[in-house]
Amino acid sequence: MADKDDRVLIVGGGAWGLSTALFLVEAGYTNVTILERANSIPSPYSAAYDLNKIVRAEYEDAFYTELALKAIQAWKTPLFAPHYHQTGYIVATSGSAPDKAIATLEKSLASVEKHPVFAPGIQRLDGPDAFRKHAWQLSGPLTGFRGYINPLGGYAHSANCLQAVWEHVSACGVRSILGNKAGCAVRLEYAEDAGQVKVTGVVTADGKTHPAHLVICALGAHGAALVPQLGANNANVARCWSVAHVQLTESECNLLRGLPTTNVRDLGFFFEPDPKTRLFKLCPLGAGYTNYDSRVNGVSLPPDNKRGFQPNAIPKADELKLRRLLQETFPWMAGRPFVDTKLCWFSDTADSNYCIDFVPNTNRSVVALSGDSGHGFKMMPIFGQWVVDLLTRGQQTEPRWQWRAHSKDCAQWGDSVSWRVGEAAEWKDILEEQEEAGVGRSKL
Ligand SMILES: Cc1cc2nc3c(=O)[nH]c(=O)nc-3n(C[C@H](O)[C@H](O)[C@H](O)COP(=O)(O)OP(=O)(O)OC[C@H]3O[C@@H](n4cnc5c(N)ncnc54)[C@H](O)[C@@H]3O)c2cc1C
Repeated sequence: MADKDDRVLIVGGGAWGLSTALFLVEAGYTNVTILERANSIPSPYSAAYDLNKIVRAEYEDAFYTELALKAIQAWKTPLFAPHYHQTGYIVATSGSAPDKAIATLEKSLASVEKHPVFAPGIQRLDGPDAFRKHAWQLSGPLTGFRGYINPLGGYAHSANCLQAVWEHVSACGVRSILGNKAGCAVRLEYAEDAGQVKVTGVVTADGKTHPAHLVICALGAHGAALVPQLGANNANVARCWSVAHVQLTESECNLLRGLPTTNVRDLGFFFEPDPKTRLFKLCPLGAGYTNYDSRVNGVSLPPDNKRGFQPNAIPKADELKLRRLLQETFPWMAGRPFVDTKLCWFSDTADSNYCIDFVPNTNRSVVALSGDSGHGFKMMPIFGQWVVDLLTRGQQTEPRWQWRAHSKDCAQWGDSVSWRVGEAAEWKDILEEQEEAGVGRSKL
């Protein structure tokens, strides 16, 4: 069990690192510092550096449904509420959806349809008119669309939320060291004392050593760069999905105000536009892209742009999927250029469970927060409590979140988690596509 005055270093000021800082301070920890490689928070390297993320409670595993329900309650508390927008959540499949996408929708529906909190609000939707009753702005043909709406859900403005929590914890005494030299952790240092190996500090890219009793690693997709064991045997795999936006005019933005967050399982999802930037965000759904061609052998990590290309152009197949989504929903937008496209990296696990545990053989001096599996942001208002619980108990009692040393080959993950529709591909293949098309050349 960590002492409340111990020097605690949190590496990574993204969604989970900041939430951890928040709950550590609330639990009385007095000496907490965040190391963050970006020059400011929100960090552009965070998977949550985005306009919005879905906040929904539908899970096939009722364990997460209950947690998401708690998170939704916490989204309505003062620190988080300004960033939460309960627009409702529509889940659908199009007429050409594969069986797997239809089955996933049915499982999600089953998780909330009989739930005492959600059940009264859930409505099944069959055909265009049913959808337009709840989202009248959907002007497309909605060919073969079926699904449901859950009014208890929506989205949160993720970048703004990161900033608000960071400002709050800073005001509560948490220190931050930022920047790609001063704040970028490159190595953990250990020492042996009476036969026990323990962490003694973190070395940053400027060569400085920051002493610590406890290091909490919350590097998202970059976890295995600092704790290589995380990436071994495909236990935690860096994976990315595409993100795209359409620039709207003020009146177009007003037209879409109040639009429920809409997730078409076989195509992609979109949100109410952001009123400040007037950007309409869309993400295609699919199995995503890995980068095993990384600097650590046999481990998928986000690319380091060495080849002179920024990962900012999205794969053609994803773009086509999003155009199909727009043709079905908002045909007036379907021919517009996509702006601010990017590949967004997260840490994936075979069964989509998080890793919230001590790193083995560190005598409980290093904690790994990893494996968000693309569904970790919604938990931000409650996540840090699970880290405090781990420190208090001295062991992870929730089997789903225990350290796992390996997983089956990533290529075989397709069937283990139902939302992974389609085949995963390697990022370098996309890079070659970008190079051939002459797009995405870095300005750096
Ligand atoms: C396209 C996409 C869509 C998503 N949609 C949703 C959604 O709808 N709902 C949802 O709940 N979740 C969603 N997620 C997942 C969500 O973004 C993540 O679960 C969440 O951001 C994980 O938080 P994290 O703190 O583990 O990682 P991150 O938020 O990625 O933070 C990691 C931090 O570590 C820092 N860092 C990295 N390396 C170092 C280093 N060496 N030294 C110091 N700092 C370092 C980074 O700069 C970053 O700030 C989505 C993810 C993606 C990619």
